Amino acid sequence: RSKRRGRGQITVYSQEIAQEMKRATQLEQALRNAIIANEVDVHFQPIVDLRNDAVVGFEALARWCDADLGYVSPAVFVPLAEERGFIDSLAEVLLRKAAHAALSWPKELFLSFNLSSAQLTDPTTSRRLLSIISQIGLDPRRLELEITETAVMADADIAQKIVAELRAAGVRVSLDDFGTGQSSLGRLRDFSFDKVKIDRAFVSRISADRASEHIIKAIVSMCEGLELEVVAEGIEDFSEALKLKALGCGLGQGYFYGKPADAVATMRYLADRYRDLPAQA
Ligand code: C2E
Ligand code: MG
Ligand code: MG
Ligand code: MG
Repeated sequence: RSKRRGRGQITVYSQEIAQEMKRATQLEQALRNAIIANEVDVHFQPIVDLRNDAVVGFEALARWCDADLGYVSPAVFVPLAEERGFIDSLAEVLLRKAAHAALSWPKELFLSFNLSSAQLTDPTTSRRLLSIISQIGLDPRRLELEITETAVMADADIAQKIVAELRAAGVRVSLDDFGTGQSSLGRLRDFSFDKVKIDRAFVSRISADRASEHIIKAIVSMCEGLELEVVAEGIEDFSEALKLKALGCGLGQGYFYGKPADAVATMRYLADRYRDLPAQA
């Protein structure tokens, strides 16, 4: 009896795998088409100076809504593009759109763009990225690239070389989702970064437990010593903002300051803050 049930489970299991593979292939095809049709979009979330609430830059976040599949999270389709080997074409479409939008912003605002792990194992990445922004006309000093500890770990030698090439061209590099990866402290010393982004996991627990507060305090103090800027991610309310300010965190980002919004809405957001900007992109 148990044998029969076992076999039944295997059948169900392999059907699930088949379903899963079918869905991934469906997603892959739809995403490839969306890239060709230029339908993958990019939204922008403000990063603010916590001391005076001034906007200092925007993080570009990939957005894709398929007619049949609906909204697909970048946490799903970015890894898919990596696995299926077309992350470069996805990243190119996204960086083009993002850099183009950034041209309409005040010059002092930076554009922060996420790099995936696969891009950090490809030695042609820095040349590709720099060539894209140079075609668009965006000053490399206005570009920041966000990389995660996990991505850095995948192939540390190549990653280190890519980071060095980009920084030599004036691009700044920040360590994203800090505190969630492994051997982060060692990486901080080996690599030259400009910024550290404290993961939302610590920020969202700041009101609930003292441990998160102590961890953030330690990260801030370490970054002061290393002369790195600190960004707190995922600030959702006023009390979190106040606590992070009190802990000496310089920069912040989160729904409290602004949700990711498309290029036009971002221009409106900026027009509310800058008098000399046109109201419409
Ligand atoms: P991330 O780079 O750490 O981006 C921050 C994520 O937190 C974004 O999710 C953002 O919408 C969300 N977020 C920001 N503020 C808040 C908040 O106050 N509360 C909450 N609950 N969430 C907040 P999103 O847009 O879904 O992106 C997820 C991840 O997908 C990103 O994490 C990044 O790793 C990846 N991703 C997004 N766009 C790109 C891209 O263009 N290229 C690459 N390689 N990865 C991307
Ligand atoms: Mg990021
Ligand atoms: Mg992050
Ligand atoms: Mg994240």
